[in-house]
Amino acid sequence: MNNHSNQAYDALALFSGGLDSILAIKLIQAQGLRVLGLHFISPFFGHPEKITLWEETYGLSILPVDVSREFISMFIDGPRYGLGKILNPCVDCKILMLTAAKKMLGQHQASFIISGEVLGQRPMSQRIDTLNIIRRDADVKNILVRSLSARHLPPTDPEKKGIILREKLGAISGRGRKDQIRLAKKFNIDPIPTPAGGCLLTEKESARRYIPLLEKKKDPQPDDFYLANTGRQLWNRNYWLCIGRNKEDNERLTSLATDKDYIINLKFFPGPLGLLRPIDDASLPEEILESACEVLSRFSPKARQSNRKVDLVVQKEDWEKEFLIWPGQQQSLQWQEPVWKKPSYPDKTEDSHTL
Ligand code: SF4
Repeated sequence: MNNHSNQAYDALALFSGGLDSILAIKLIQAQGLRVLGLHFISPFFGHPEKITLWEETYGLSILPVDVSREFISMFIDGPRYGLGKILNPCVDCKILMLTAAKKMLGQHQASFIISGEVLGQRPMSQRIDTLNIIRRDADVKNILVRSLSARHLPPTDPEKKGIILREKLGAISGRGRKDQIRLAKKFNIDPIPTPAGGCLLTEKESARRYIPLLEKKKDPQPDDFYLANTGRQLWNRNYWLCIGRNKEDNERLTSLATDKDYIINLKFFPGPLGLLRPIDDASLPEEILESACEVLSRFSPKARQSNRKVDLVVQKEDWEKEFLIWPGQQQSLQWQEPVWKKPSYPDKTEDSHTL
């Protein structure tokens, strides 16, 4: 990844990695202007590991921008324009990203922002009235160029000033992809990326993992959401148990552990690692520790097949305790996987993005 943090550009672009965001930049680059793509990152979206590949494959300059804290605080406060089909606050998210991009203009001597939104592509968040709300609330009314649909939209400052030629911008609208594919061929975009997406807030399977956290923790932090993305998730009142499903999960759990967490390992058998986190400093009774050990031991086939009690070690900073447990024994205390249910935000939007 190149270091673009203090270099000069003519424009900054919201860059998701999807085809529309590539084309939106290409239309401006084709006019001889320098564009820096901003790739926003949070526990829910962003692939910083792909940046080098995107830069090399598509001839782009891309900077990762971590918006985790701003995003989570918007999310916890309740997004002003509600949620989409699942947990995705798309309108507020776009306002947040554009606001962040606007703040970065001066640092890069850039004068305008590009986004790959297409008029009418999504039923709600890319309707003309929503596009207008987004540019109004992000305070980018005259400097936001939606280059794929620009000729359907009022001229912006860079068009009026002749920095970019309006007639060379796109006039795409609607849900079809034909125009984008034609443009991709013109710009030799190969391979054509699969549709932008991958936002975990648009998928029930991942979004359900955040529900207990949103309900139980007063002030969840980015690392809490990264933890919710990792391994098997189980909750018992205010106790949160994450169990690795493979070596990668186990390593990730270890790296996310704080000094308030209890780490559980089987002593003599291969198996998952457990991370037990009491929420908001809840005290931890021994029966919870013991039941967490029992649950963890169920996920080690070798421990289960041993037909005897197995040793588990629980560690927290300098403290350590061992438990001798029958794996798979029925527990009186209930550990449950989170189930999907929509939180009670106002529900005004209904789709996901193309930035
Ligand atoms: S789908 Fe896209 S716009 Fe919507 S919340 Fe996720 S990243 Fe933001």
